[in-house]
Amino acid sequence: AKPSAIFGAGRLNSQGYDLSDAATLARIYEVREIEMPGAKPILSDRLGTGTDRQIVNPATGEGIATVTDADADSVERALAGAAPWEATAAERAAILRRAADLYEDALGPLFAALHREAGKTIPDAVGELREAVDFLRYYANEGEKLTAGPRGVIAAISPWNFPLAIFTGQIAAALAAGNAVIAKPAEQTPLVAAMAVRLMHEAGVPRSALQYVPGDGATVGATLTSDARVDGVVFTGSTETARVIQGAMAEHLAPGAPLIAETGGLNAMIVDSTALPEQAVRDIVASSFQSAGQRCSALRCLYVQEDVAPTLIEMLKGAMDELALGDPWHLSTDVGPVIDADAKAGIEAYVEAHTARVLHRVAAPETGTFVAPTLIEVGGIADLEREVFGPVLHVATFRAEDIDRVIDDINARGFGLTFGLHTRIDGRVENLSRRIRVGNAYVNRNQIGAIVGSQPFGGEGLSGTGPKAGGPNYVARFTASPTPMADQ
Ligand code: GLU
Repeated sequence: AKPSAIFGAGRLNSQGYDLSDAATLARIYEVREIEMPGAKPILSDRLGTGTDRQIVNPATGEGIATVTDADADSVERALAGAAPWEATAAERAAILRRAADLYEDALGPLFAALHREAGKTIPDAVGELREAVDFLRYYANEGEKLTAGPRGVIAAISPWNFPLAIFTGQIAAALAAGNAVIAKPAEQTPLVAAMAVRLMHEAGVPRSALQYVPGDGATVGATLTSDARVDGVVFTGSTETARVIQGAMAEHLAPGAPLIAETGGLNAMIVDSTALPEQAVRDIVASSFQSAGQRCSALRCLYVQEDVAPTLIEMLKGAMDELALGDPWHLSTDVGPVIDADAKAGIEAYVEAHTARVLHRVAAPETGTFVAPTLIEVGGIADLEREVFGPVLHVATFRAEDIDRVIDDINARGFGLTFGLHTRIDGRVENLSRRIRVGNAYVNRNQIGAIVGSQPFGGEGLSGTGPKAGGPNYVARFTASPTPMADQ
């Protein structure tokens, strides 16, 4: 399809923001000292009180705001007050597009919040805002094509690693189809989420159609997913949590209520001896260490063909040494902190347990929750015990004649999110991309940063239910009519 056919009439923002433009940089930096609003003003008056909790800047350890989590009574009020959006598809689409414009106007405050609450680097913040805006405009377009009505009330449960983009994407899709949404952001990132909700309300989304319930999974999440007034759940997070949600829904929700889940991955990349080494190394580093490895799409297990492995691994170590770790607010910073102390402790414990096989580790700042990018040698993907959600890359070597076995091993793990391949053999591209069972396969580039509308994102197997986010089947899944699960 031509790009115009994919994107529809609306304007997407896939180019991002030009960081060499002084005016854009000035807009970003003028708000460094933003007063974080806390989440209280966003809680509608229907919501009761809850527990106060401090939110900490992961790069510095400083408290930045207090959030009031919703308690069970607050969630009850949200459920009682939820009402599908009474507006035509065209009116809804216009309001979602207005929200996209407001997001872009709020670039400075949103970047400051992404930086302070989630430790996002400037390039990562650019990607987030771009993706959030793209979701709003793309789903607005898709909503206008629907013939079926809304399902009713959708619970949207989102992760901290894309506190703006994924939070917004889930909500925008459900709203585009006319549903009421009750949105629970990740415990770690309620402030960015609160700003997003405020912008969507300001654009004209009724409060009864979008309610915000910050809190933890055990209270807010569990209450929402086991209440019969909920007609569907959209979730991004771990495979284990998705299983818990699925169990709760099966017990309490009407049969047929959809769970749309994007979950974890154990993503691999194969680099063969025909690959361009400089390009491969650049893409390995981006895939593994950008966003401090905190993407479900991130590369976890690199396979390098034996003949070129010594050279390529030396180059990779050199590139790791060049990574700038530190204050994510500096434009030159490549790797910011991981999200919180628990995340850091979990990753450090994993590295500690594998010390004997660590091939390389760079230095990390002592403050905040930085984790040093680390390279660990393994025999293959079967050696990875779990998805380590941080800047830890495993590397294995393979012999040319074993490449099919490598694909079998990757498929055998049961995840199926992203896959990367670096080769200059055309037949190999065709063969391996046909055999690998993943949602998103990338050739001769990095394997992160799917673009809304042109690279729908989502996995199969243990990595998710589909339909893919940012793809043509996604919004339809939020309607009352049965829709196909598969992506074309
Ligand atoms: N869509 C993101 C990407 O392509 C990953 C989303 C996630 O980590 O959940 O990198």
